[in-house]
Amino acid sequence: MAIATAPAVAEAGPLGDALQQLDAAIDVLGYDQGLHRLLARPRREMSVSIPLRRDDGSIEVLSGYRVQHNFSRGPAKGGLRFSPQVSLDEVRALAMWMTWKCALLDVPYGGAKGGITIDPTMYSTAELSRVTRRYTNEILPIIGPEKDIPAPDIGTDEQTMAWMMDTYSANVGYTVPAVVTGKPVSLGGSLGRPSATSRGVVHTALAALAYRGLVPARTSAAVQGFGKVGAGSARFLAEAGVRVVAVSDRYGAIHNAAGLDITALELHVATCGTVCGFGGAAEIDPDDLLTLDVDVLVPAAVEGVINLRNAHDIRASIVVEGANGPTTNDADAVLDDRGVLVVPDILANAGGVIVSYFEWVQGNQAYWWTADQVEKRLETRMLQGWRSVLETATRRGLTLRQAATVTAVSRVADAHLTRGLYP
Ligand code: GLU
Repeated sequence: MAIATAPAVAEAGPLGDALQQLDAAIDVLGYDQGLHRLLARPRREMSVSIPLRRDDGSIEVLSGYRVQHNFSRGPAKGGLRFSPQVSLDEVRALAMWMTWKCALLDVPYGGAKGGITIDPTMYSTAELSRVTRRYTNEILPIIGPEKDIPAPDIGTDEQTMAWMMDTYSANVGYTVPAVVTGKPVSLGGSLGRPSATSRGVVHTALAALAYRGLVPARTSAAVQGFGKVGAGSARFLAEAGVRVVAVSDRYGAIHNAAGLDITALELHVATCGTVCGFGGAAEIDPDDLLTLDVDVLVPAAVEGVINLRNAHDIRASIVVEGANGPTTNDADAVLDDRGVLVVPDILANAGGVIVSYFEWVQGNQAYWWTADQVEKRLETRMLQGWRSVLETATRRGLTLRQAATVTAVSRVADAHLTRGLYP
């Protein structure tokens, strides 16, 4: 196993932003440099080569990573991402954000993330199965229900989790459903897990609208991304009465000022594989979606899309971060100056890991909840999270992101300090 050493400081990108957010939280909390250093570095990380036999018989070697940022509050937890943009630094940032997300929502995990540098759309299902299985085999020594529990992220889904669970189980000699969450229901997955992140996004979006005195029926939204998070966010916003005027995917963006028919759009995407070409809308430049005159903007795709190039032009009064790290720190400061309310990723998109936790609890008890129970408990947790972040932000004069990070860092630090340093 190749164990790399994380740098203490990164210059730019998501890792630079994640480290700066930690620095700021440490300053607010008044912790010493030792604790800072401890939280800035992942506890463990693994880089692996993944040899893949393509369907044509040729061999390719892919790069994969699993970073476990922290274990102070429980086993590490976080998704597995398949994307051409995956790098070790990106996975480090995403793992750190998972630690804060779990602590903030008080689910008993530390943070982790995995990634493979691959464009999954360019590979057959059989090839993706081989990649997933070989990767799982490589990281097997460091994952497990009590160690680190992967889940879906960008480019992966229930099927990926089924392959991981099967590979892990075949290796240890018995079936271990709890090694992953986001599994198919037939393998011990939870009802409501696929829609959990987007439901959570919409719970916080509606809470933010109410906080700003806005009524859903008189507001509009634009959603960047029409994947697992974006499509559900658009649907649940529309169901709540919000006029969803624009959505985008990796192929393009569409707009209709009167509001998109999300049900019809979902049918279109199911047949055509993209939002482009949808009859009930005009195509627009995907970059323009971010600066539309809407009340709510939901970036639900990738990191860094709201940055210094467009932060001054964002016209939404509320940004709800469905993606992890969609706003760079520089842009965040601009949005704050301009009075834009940003509901940060570690709160807004925490619904996924909350229902992952519910899945783990249900599996441990071998007792399954109804979809309604899952959804009600998810809503309760999301709104508790929203209220606590808002209360901290108001009391300490912080942005919602600063308040969320401070709350999360203090919980992780408390757990660490109470356990003490070994030896
Ligand atoms: N990938 C999701 C996230 O970024 C879910 C992680 C999980 O359920 O463990 O929060």
